[in-house]
Amino acid sequence: MNNIIFFGPPGAGKGTQAKILSQYLNIPHLSTGDILRSKINQKDKLGLEVKNIIATGKLVSDDILNSIVNDRLVENSHNGFILDGYPRTLEQSFFLNEMLNKMNINLDYIINIELNYDVLEQRIIKRSKEENREDDNMDVIKTRFMEYTETTKKVSDTYKENSSKIFYNIDGNDEISQITSKIKEIVKNT
Ligand code: AMP
Repeated sequence: MNNIIFFGPPGAGKGTQAKILSQYLNIPHLSTGDILRSKINQKDKLGLEVKNIIATGKLVSDDILNSIVNDRLVENSHNGFILDGYPRTLEQSFFLNEMLNKMNINLDYIINIELNYDVLEQRIIKRSKEENREDDNMDVIKTRFMEYTETTKKVSDTYKENSSKIFYNIDGNDEISQITSKIKEIVKNT
């Protein structure tokens, strides 16, 4: 099976790679950032709450995220899935483990794209111009990066420790196409 989690700091290219891999393997790409951004467009109470949090670069609450991912996985997990942007907190990872256990599903690959802050900063500035994302200005980038180093990195480190056999580090400095090839090799050869 292809049940996959992507980790990496903001701007590392995990969304791009997750999208390419989901087309290659023909499995759903569950990007929690994309799902939350589509909630904002609904312009209801939850949408407004989410909009305000994302605009600061902080994390949206575990309850909201756990409920979104639970619904999506129940609907979409039959042939495999790629989780991009979740779990981002230890609490979310505990919830995910429990959910997968209940559904009798194992994780097959955890792909962790690594990149240092200087490169990330430049990339995010470039992307903010291209995509017009409100959460891509310097202050917000710093907060998002801090959320990553102080919270999400602990989650990927825990997976690295507990699931080392399926955990793969990928150098995010490489060209997009090189990174794609490396990831395809991993899912083809194991
Ligand atoms: P992304 O597109 O993955 O960079 O996510 C954009 C923003 O959505 C993040 O900065 C968070 O505010 C929010 N977000 C996405 N996924 C999560 C998550 N798993 N937990 C909490 N907040 C999230």
